[in-house]
Amino acid sequence: MIPPKQVQEILDATRIEEVVEDFVTLKRRGVNLIGLCPFHGERTPSFNVNPARNIFKCFGCGKAGDSITFLKEHENLTYPEALRWLARKYNIEIQEVERSPEQMAEAQLADSLYIVNDFGLQHFQKQLFETDEGKSVALSYFRKRGLREETIRAFGLGYAPDERDLLLRKAKSAGHNLDLLKKVGLCSQDGSRDFFRARVMFAIHNLSGKVAAFAGRTMHSSPPGGAGGVTVPKYINSPETEIYVKNKILYGAFQAKKAIRQQDECLLVEGYMDVISLYQAGIENVVASSGTSLTEGQLQLIRRNTTNLKILYDGDPAGIKAALRGLDLALEQDLNVKICLLPDGHDPDSYVQEFGGEQFLKYTTENAKDFIFFKTDLLLEETKGDPIKRAGLVKDIVGSIAKIPDTIKRSVYLRECSALLQVPEQALYSEANKLIANTLKKREEKAARQPGAASDVPPAAPTMRSGDEFFPSDMGGYFPPSEAGELPPDWETPRSSAPSVERNAGAEFQERDIVRLLILYGQHVLPEENITVGEYLLTDIEESLGDFDNPLYGKIASECHTMLAEGKVFDQHYFIQHESGDVANLAIDLLAEPWEFSPNWEAMWNYPLQNQPMPELNFTLDMRQALDRFKLRKVQKMCALNLARVQTASKSGDHEAMMRFMKIQQKLNETRNEIALRAGTVVLVK
Ligand SMILES: [Zn+2]
Repeated sequence: MIPPKQVQEILDATRIEEVVEDFVTLKRRGVNLIGLCPFHGERTPSFNVNPARNIFKCFGCGKAGDSITFLKEHENLTYPEALRWLARKYNIEIQEVERSPEQMAEAQLADSLYIVNDFGLQHFQKQLFETDEGKSVALSYFRKRGLREETIRAFGLGYAPDERDLLLRKAKSAGHNLDLLKKVGLCSQDGSRDFFRARVMFAIHNLSGKVAAFAGRTMHSSPPGGAGGVTVPKYINSPETEIYVKNKILYGAFQAKKAIRQQDECLLVEGYMDVISLYQAGIENVVASSGTSLTEGQLQLIRRNTTNLKILYDGDPAGIKAALRGLDLALEQDLNVKICLLPDGHDPDSYVQEFGGEQFLKYTTENAKDFIFFKTDLLLEETKGDPIKRAGLVKDIVGSIAKIPDTIKRSVYLRECSALLQVPEQALYSEANKLIANTLKKREEKAARQPGAASDVPPAAPTMRSGDEFFPSDMGGYFPPSEAGELPPDWETPRSSAPSVERNAGAEFQERDIVRLLILYGQHVLPEENITVGEYLLTDIEESLGDFDNPLYGKIASECHTMLAEGKVFDQHYFIQHESGDVANLAIDLLAEPWEFSPNWEAMWNYPLQNQPMPELNFTLDMRQALDRFKLRKVQKMCALNLARVQTASKSGDHEAMMRFMKIQQKLNETRNEIALRAGTVVLVK
C-alpha cells in the first residue's frame, strides 16, 4: 500500500500535459493544449488538456478527468498501478506500507500461478513450432484454417501432443511445483498425467496480457458418440482459479482493447477462431464470451471501453432467441446493443476467410439491427395471428426497454415500438412505468433491509405514478395543491385536477432538481456560454448554498462548489463512487429516475415529451427552468417569512418596523413575479 502522504506527493508532482504527452501529440492553443483524442477515433482534435486545472477533457466523446483517470482509462491501470506509474515517471521512490500476510500470500499465489501458466505457454508453443508432430498435426491445422504465423504467435496458440505426461515431466525437471500445476489444471488432479493431450491450444489472456488459462481443441475428428468410441469433448478449459474467473474474462480482450476504444465499438462473437480470424483480417475490436452467455462482469469489461456492442450471431432463430434473453443485462449497463445475423451456413470465421475484412465490415454494418427492434421483429414473426401470445410479446419487449437507464433513449424506443407493435404509445409507457416502479421499489426495500442503511436520507420525491394518468393531457398548472398553502394570499395558483402532479410535490423537489442537473450534466459544456452546466448553476446560486432545506442536497451542491473552485472534475462516476453511501445512492436514483423531463415539461409548457429535443440540445432550457424553480421557491419562503413579520409588527403597533417590512415585501414580490413570469409557472391575478 502506498502511504497517503506519498500519494499526495505524487499527485502534486504530476503535470497532466506531461502524462498525456507520453501517449498523445499535443499542440498549444491558447492556455490549453489540444490533440487527437486517444479514446475515440477522430481526425480533427477535440481532446483538450488544461494545465492550469490539471485536467483533460475531450469535447468529442466526453471523456474527462485528471492524470489518474487518464492512466486508468488509457492504460487500463488500477488506481495504485496508476500511482506507481506516476511515481516512476517523476522519480518518486515509494516506501510501500507493508501488506498484510493474507494480501502477500494472495499476491504471491497469483504470481506463481501466472509463472506456471507461462511455462505452459512456452511448452505448447515449442511443441507447435519445433516438433515434427506439432508441425504436421497442429501447425498445418492452423494454416489450413487460414492463420499466419504472426497471428498464431500474437494469440499464444500452441499444441499439446498426444503423450501421457510430457508437460508434467518437463515442468518437474524445470523445478515447478506439482500442486501449482494441478491448481492451474495443467495436469490431472492425481498428478499422474497431462490434462491437455492431442489438442491445439488457445492461451486465454487477462487484460494485461498474462496467461490466465488455456482452452484445448481436440485433434480427434471422430464424431461425438460415433462408432462406439469414447466421446471426446471438442473443447476443454482450465479450471477456475484465483487468476481465472470465467465470467470476468472475455477471450481476445487483451488484443482488442485498444481497437475497441479507438473504434468505440466492441464486436462480440462466439468462438476463439472467430476472434482470431477477424483480428488477422484487420478487425481487431473483437472478443468472444466463449460459449457462456454474457455476464455482468464481462459487460462491465466492455462498458469500460465503449458503450457500443455489436453481437454477431450465426445459427438458427431458436438459439438466438434464447441468447437474447441474456441481453437485457447489457441494456441495464446502458450499452447500445446491435445484433447482426450472418448469412446461412457462415460463422464470422468462415465469412471473413471467404470474403475478406472489407466485405465483412460492409455486411455487418449494413445488416446490424438495433437489439430492441431485432427482438421485436423476431417475436412479431412468431406471434402472428395469436393475440394472447401477442400480449406476452408486448410485455417482453417493454420489459427489455424498461431496463434501459437512459430516459430519453427509453422514450425513443417506446415510440418506435408502439408503431412496430401497433400498440398505443401511452399503453407502453404505462407498462414500462409499472416495471420501473417495481424495480425501484425492490431496490429501496433491499436498501432498507441492509443494516446501516442511512435513515436520515429524505425519501426521494416520488417520481412517477404508474398507470394512465402518467401523461395527463390537460395539466394546467405547475404547483401542486399541497404546496399552494405556502403561497402568499395575493397569489392564485392554477390548481390542477390531475393528481399525478403531486409526484413532484416533495418539499425539496426544486433542490433535488438542481442536484440532478449537477450530477447528470455537471460537466456538459453549454454551447452558447462556453462554461459547464455545473459552473453556470453554482455561480448562480452561490449565495443560496447554505439555504438548502435538505441537508443531503445542500451537501452535494456545496461539495460541487468547492470542487469547482479547486479545479476538480465531478461527474456521474464521481458521485456513484462517492465515499458517502447516501450520496452514491442518490446519484444512482437520479440516474435511474424515469422521465425526468416529462412531469415538469408537460405540466409547465404543455409541451409533450415526444416533441422535445434530445437532452443534449435541451439542457440549457432544462437548467434555466430548474434555476428559476429553485429561486422561486427560495423567494417564496422569504416572502412568507417576511409577511409574518409585517403581521407581527402591525399587531404590536410598531409602525416603523411595519413600514420597513412592507418595503422589503414589495421588493420580494417584484423579484418573485419576475421569476414566476419567466418560469411561466403561476398566473398573477393582482
Ligand atoms: Zn474523445
